[in-house]
Amino acid sequence: MKNQINMLNQLQELVLTRDELHQTDGGAHTDALDQSIDALVERLDPQPKALYQRLYKKSHIVMAPMSDGCCAVCGMRLPISQMQQVRLAKTLQTCSSCGRMLYNEEEDAPRNMREMSGRGEPRKTGISRFSAEELMVCDLKGDTTKAVIGELAEVMSLNRFVSNPDALVTAAMERESILSTAMGNGLAFPHVRGVEGGGLTLALGVSKKGFRYDAAGEIVHLVFFSVIPVAVSPFYLRLMAGLSEAFTKAENRKALMNAASTPADLWKAFMRTTRHTIR
Ligand SMILES: [Zn+2]
Repeated sequence: MKNQINMLNQLQELVLTRDELHQTDGGAHTDALDQSIDALVERLDPQPKALYQRLYKKSHIVMAPMSDGCCAVCGMRLPISQMQQVRLAKTLQTCSSCGRMLYNEEEDAPRNMREMSGRGEPRKTGISRFSAEELMVCDLKGDTTKAVIGELAEVMSLNRFVSNPDALVTAAMERESILSTAMGNGLAFPHVRGVEGGGLTLALGVSKKGFRYDAAGEIVHLVFFSVIPVAVSPFYLRLMAGLSEAFTKAENRKALMNAASTPADLWKAFMRTTRHTIR
């Protein structure tokens, strides 16, 4: 069953990648993805295939990682016997509350260690729900996508937002291999889904000189790197739409580039430029 679960997770990632593309591109270039998705569905065994097709009609999130003994999507606590079954992965286990197919997170998978808004603090709004001054990198040094994502993962880890930055970089690069997250206008949105334990977290890096992001040769200056708990994947699509709306405007991109002298200035500019598109 482990192999089936791996295929289902791949499928989940492809489907959510297609949703991202719809969000930013109007869904114009999804043919190759559609084909990969159809081919993968055909390769599933009859039981997981039927379950996948039934769940997919209700929600594009069909897989739920088990996190701290709970279904990470709906939060339902699993019975101890079922936790064991999920770990063994000999049978396909589903959440008794939301019906999704459960899988065990890898031991060394990166974890989100901290919520953006601490308990007792006033409720945050806009981009400060997902990011913070500590997560602003003014002068990215790397000249490859992997190096740059590494710098951003390191900042997240140093500030104790995530564990295991190396695994985070590997996962982000795997996602890039499905489809580049460079979006034109010098923007890129690398991300890793399935980082459980806290909230959606975003780091912003500015590369003043720019670097070649992908095989298409796109030069990127602004990198928005996110870690996303599975349950908030639909919300991530809205965040991405809000960011691309703000930064397709040249004056907003320029405002970030000009403010990238200190993290404090960059953070202020980030809040100001996203004020109307991220609520
Ligand atoms: Zn559930």
